[in-house]
Amino acid sequence: MDPEAPLVIVDVDEVLGLFMRGFETFIARHGYEMRITRFALFQSIFEPGSDQHLDIARGRVLFEAYFAGDVEHMELTPGAAAALEAFALEASVVILTNAPPQGRDPRTRWLIRNGLDFPLVINSGPKGASVAAIAAKTRGPVAFIDDLMPNLESVAEAAPHVSRFQLVADERLRPHAHSAPERHPRYDDWADLQAAVLEAIRR
Ligand SMILES: [Mg+2]
Repeated sequence: MDPEAPLVIVDVDEVLGLFMRGFETFIARHGYEMRITRFALFQSIFEPGSDQHLDIARGRVLFEAYFAGDVEHMELTPGAAAALEAFALEASVVILTNAPPQGRDPRTRWLIRNGLDFPLVINSGPKGASVAAIAAKTRGPVAFIDDLMPNLESVAEAAPHVSRFQLVADERLRPHAHSAPERHPRYDDWADLQAAVLEAIRR
């Protein structure tokens, strides 16, 4: 990594890739359906005809299985690849994901297949400490992009000099996602986000 260059740190699920849509296709093959009425993954999985969401533990098993394989066929979010390509012309790019351990290889293949061959860092829990450590490798301006408020808040705490941006890729999730746009500007369209991030790292 260039110690003088700007840096963009970017999440995968529901940012670069349409996680919810891919997971929905996966659980459908197991006989379940997704009903998106809140921002809570495991409370959105239902057996057809049931008005009670699937048992959380069962949902977690499906989630773990999805990450071991099918996740590598997830659809790319429109505009994401073009934006990373634009960032890479003037900044280092690092992918920071909270995939479970079995997700590392499928995730790496997914990134390469989609032309996003950037360094991949697997994190667990809130991302502040990891972002602070990666950001410390450059004296240039740093931007961080994620869909989840706990990660954005954690970065604000641990690395306040990093510009934070929120994007929620799935249109159905957007109305349910928690935001604080005055602290973490939110752009749900990649073209808008691309412009805002470039402005931030050119300072
Ligand atoms: Mg995410």
